[in-house]
Amino acid sequence: MKIAILDIQGSVVEHLRALEACGVDVVRVKKPADLEGCAGLVIPGGESTTLSKLLSRFGLRDAILAHKDLGIWGTCAGAILLAKEIEDGEGVESLGLMDIKVKRNAYGRQLDSFEAEVVFAGKKVPAVFIRAPKISEVKRSCDILASSGDEVVAVREGKYLATTFHPEMTNDLTVVQYFISMCA
Ligand code: GLN
Repeated sequence: MKIAILDIQGSVVEHLRALEACGVDVVRVKKPADLEGCAGLVIPGGESTTLSKLLSRFGLRDAILAHKDLGIWGTCAGAILLAKEIEDGEGVESLGLMDIKVKRNAYGRQLDSFEAEVVFAGKKVPAVFIRAPKISEVKRSCDILASSGDEVVAVREGKYLATTFHPEMTNDLTVVQYFISMCA
């Protein structure tokens, strides 16, 4: 199975290593043709304004939206790009694929980044939050897979997965394997 990683900005190498550790073929996506034959796409963390601009500039926005069978996992900035609604989202044009509302930079500044342990789909996993968004609304079509305190931090809607934390920055492959099984 081929899983793509959007390779235009952000934590690309970390995702690549985590996917390879799970034994899938990983494809770096810089242009629409790279998506061919891929069962899934990871949109990494990074800066959602930059990712949004580059998605349009490289023709990737339309290519992703046209690929109806593609499973997509967005981490942090990637989760922002999946949301239908964004608070403080000036400069971000999202793909609008998930029925969630997110608030950018909702935990504060870069210095307020933190690590926590969360229960993801019934299993404890380490979670790294880097200038993360909060998921402020989850519509009924979505399943909540993880929370941290009062905050929802992982949501699935059909073939789409959003995590506001960075599983690829830990050695725990639970979330990566979960996404791969979603795409299989
Ligand atoms: N603060 C970033 C944004 O709003 C997301 C940070 C991240 O992806 N780690 O795009």
